[in-house]
Amino acid sequence: MSHYRPLSERTHDFKPVETLPGEEELRLELVRCQDCGIPFCHASGCPLQNAVPEVNAAALDGRWGTALRRLLATSPFPEFTARLCPALCEGSCVQGLHDLPVPCRRVELAVIEHGFARQWVRPRPPKQRRGPTVAVIGSGPAGLAAAWRLNQGGARVTVYERDARPGGFLRYGIPDFKLDKEILDRRIRLLEQEGILFECGVDAGTDFSGRLLRQRHGVLVLAVGARQKRDLPVPGRSLSGILFATDYLAAQNRVVSGEQAALPEEFSARRKRVIVIGGGDTGSDCVGTAWRQGAISVLQLEIMPKPLERRGPDNPWPQWPRVLRTSSSHEEGGERRWNVMTTAFSADPDRPDRVSAACCAPVAWKTDQGRLQPVVADDSGFVLQTDLVLLAMGFTGIRADPLLEYLGMRPDASGRLPRDAGGRLPEADAYACGDAALGPSLVVRAISDGLRVAERIIEDIF
Ligand SMILES: Cc1cc2nc3c(=O)[nH]c(=O)nc-3n(C[C@H](O)[C@H](O)[C@H](O)COP(=O)(O)OP(=O)(O)OC[C@H]3O[C@@H](n4cnc5c(N)ncnc54)[C@H](O)[C@@H]3O)c2cc1C
Repeated sequence: MSHYRPLSERTHDFKPVETLPGEEELRLELVRCQDCGIPFCHASGCPLQNAVPEVNAAALDGRWGTALRRLLATSPFPEFTARLCPALCEGSCVQGLHDLPVPCRRVELAVIEHGFARQWVRPRPPKQRRGPTVAVIGSGPAGLAAAWRLNQGGARVTVYERDARPGGFLRYGIPDFKLDKEILDRRIRLLEQEGILFECGVDAGTDFSGRLLRQRHGVLVLAVGARQKRDLPVPGRSLSGILFATDYLAAQNRVVSGEQAALPEEFSARRKRVIVIGGGDTGSDCVGTAWRQGAISVLQLEIMPKPLERRGPDNPWPQWPRVLRTSSSHEEGGERRWNVMTTAFSADPDRPDRVSAACCAPVAWKTDQGRLQPVVADDSGFVLQTDLVLLAMGFTGIRADPLLEYLGMRPDASGRLPRDAGGRLPEADAYACGDAALGPSLVVRAISDGLRVAERIIEDIF
């Protein structure tokens, strides 16, 4: 049974694709969870170590308050992970050995939304304030999680955010059809009511110098994300009509939220043949967005080989299954091709500034000294006509900025902020968390890392 709104309806709007689980669906699934011998979902699967079996058992009995308490004991923002997580827990679900895993993510969705509907999720400001004030730079999931934990520990926390509104990629990356921004705003309101201050539209290090930040705050937490986009430096790259996926997605999100009145033409896929380069989450979000904008066709290209339909022998349970994933956006149409490298872009003579084609080549993969290397066969290139190209090839690491310069921080060879095991940077009383330190990752890992680093700060300083 599909948990998505009908195709004919959902591709005409940006409202959430996924429906809330019904009671019968939950009961049937949760009974299967009770058949488990030794659960692996919480310990080996979930970065937050959510007590999945206990949450599920309470939900099965209709003890929604208990289920919510167990969930919130490890996860501060289940409403985000319940909508966005690839559900690492489900990859190690015992039922998954012989059947479909129990849909723990959807149970989480039911539990947290029951909690909100019954007004059980309320602001819980700390009873006492103590210690130096903390500046959290960046309001993505890592920054929000660190701010929440520090605030609960009694710290006075200010979150500085370069964008106009808080949320990081939750707001200006992930489309509303996956995460309605009212869900994000609902949480931000709670955090504000708990005493966290948000200063948005402030580029820390530029609008607000590093020295001033240091004067104002005893502790700095860098949750600045891994924002350096991976580019495709091939001939024709500078033609118009070739955009970074995150700029494209952010523009559409700004229109959906009303932050921007109309979508500039260059960010619209209406009546265009769209090529998305990159096969991950960001690429898939571009596919869904392009259909909603009225694209003529959408083709997603991936340089890597097509994943297997089922686990390979080198990828046994309870490891995360490295298998082909089909998102709600893929279901909406278009084509996906693997083993394709884009070697150049070209323009029509009558519009020489604008992309009209992508020159591509099939790629074979060979192992060289234990590493997979792409090999392009000679004379096998082909040309794909296009009006809009979206580059969704991920990120290479943190972006250099004046704050990092002021702190004397340079990325390591992998583009991450080098920190010790507890999140501490070489600079005194400065810490890093989330994608900035982990490399591009997942919402659940960013939250888990933000919490862990906040715990360490509380131990070190408060
Ligand atoms: C399009 C897209 C779709 C995704 N979909 C999913 C998904 O479905 N599921 C999933 O688990 N993960 C997904 N991810 C990945 C996930 O969003 C990231 O891993 C996560 O947001 C990282 O959190 P973060 O807090 O470390 O950084 P970010 O979310 O990147 O937030 C960093 C924040 O720091 C701010 N900042 C940086 N420098 C400064 C400064 N000097 N001053 C002030 N502010 C600053 C930035 O403006 C930004 O708001 C997706 C990512 C993208 C781009």
